Amino acid sequence: MSVRRIERAPLRRRNTFGVEASAGLLIETDDADDLPALFSNELAGESPHASELLVLGGGSNLLIVEGPALALNLDTQAIRTLDIHDDRAIVRADAGVAWHRLVMWTLEQGYAGLENLALIPGTVGAAPIQNIGAYGVEVGERIRAVEVFERATGAFHRFDAAACAFAYRDSAFKRELDRWLIVAVEFELPLARTLDASGLKIDYAGLREEMGLAADARGGYGARQVAEAVIRLRRRKLPDPAVAGNAGSFFKNPIVPAAQADALLAEHPQLPAFRGDSDATRKLSAAWLIDACGWKGRRAGTGGGGSGDAGVAGQHALVLVNHGRATGAELLALAREIAADVDARFGVAIEPEPRIVGARW
Ligand SMILES: Cc1cc2nc3c(=O)[nH]c(=O)nc-3n(C[C@H](O)[C@H](O)[C@H](O)COP(=O)(O)OP(=O)(O)OC[C@H]3O[C@@H](n4cnc5c(N)ncnc54)[C@H](O)[C@@H]3O)c2cc1C
Repeated sequence: MSVRRIERAPLRRRNTFGVEASAGLLIETDDADDLPALFSNELAGESPHASELLVLGGGSNLLIVEGPALALNLDTQAIRTLDIHDDRAIVRADAGVAWHRLVMWTLEQGYAGLENLALIPGTVGAAPIQNIGAYGVEVGERIRAVEVFERATGAFHRFDAAACAFAYRDSAFKRELDRWLIVAVEFELPLARTLDASGLKIDYAGLREEMGLAADARGGYGARQVAEAVIRLRRRKLPDPAVAGNAGSFFKNPIVPAAQADALLAEHPQLPAFRGDSDATRKLSAAWLIDACGWKGRRAGTGGGGSGDAGVAGQHALVLVNHGRATGAELLALAREIAADVDARFGVAIEPEPRIVGARW
């Protein structure tokens, strides 16, 4: 067991927006068994800072406006197969494992199921929080259980998939962010050799074309080919945080009543709309709404002393970008301006996907 304490810890390299911020105290541990002692001492409920504790993973879904007093990073790194039965493998990965490393590890073992989620930044521990999703797959579909530490009681619990209440970019954990710390995730994955092409999801946003498949192709590819195509697509379409700071999609696709969607579609037939969380709702493309307001590729102004480095990516209207020295406050102001425009033009409220630290939406 090893616990590190870093006072006034710089966070610029710990958030993919690359904004300058620091944590009053950052505690890092590589052993989840340290948590009960940590939380009964310096992170205890009575501590004035306990409620401000930020659990920090890879920082790829955060907009830090003001650094937290206290941050905790669980840097645990084990991945193992717990069991193989019938045509399924049960895999357990620690919270600190890099998500993409897990995806590649499972493919090397011959396990399928996570290929559509290749190259998503961040850690295993954060993946269930917003039920990460890409190319037609959400991680909740592959999770068997989530092991958590309850901050207030110091007890460990195991949530089965139903108890996680996964929904679009949402989970039981996201609804109570200050209560749970995810320590490990168990996945149930089909063995790639037992899977025929119908078990792979490739009918999403250009994936089939990227794989060079004819529209009616029904085989001749496997989970690895899907992962490779996803990686190529993502490299082409999304700005690399190492080049231009960003947190991926900044806005969630809004879910609206079906009647409202129908009225919008009558006026804007090109607006992409999908089934929402029930037959009575529709999920609208936030990217389309933002693009229609003319925001793609635009930068915020330098009025009020801002750096002018906050902008919207040229490749993707959903991605806010730090072109250099933008502050969290500038990025937040830009996001609010975009949301206000979309609301004024279409009457639709769009909401941020990343957690905003040190300010309210
Ligand atoms: C270029 C780019 C592309 C992206 N593409 C996608 C995408 O396709 N799909 C998608 O869903 N997301 C995407 N994201 C968003 C992001 O990668 C995911 O949300 C990821 O799961 C965040 O992981 P993280 O470790 O960086 O979490 P952080 O940003 O560190 O934290 C996010 C939230 O989770 C909490 N948290 C982190 N670890 C734990 C833990 N162990 N226990 C409890 N709470 C915890 C934090 O407190 C915070 O509330 C993208 C981001 C970028 C930069």
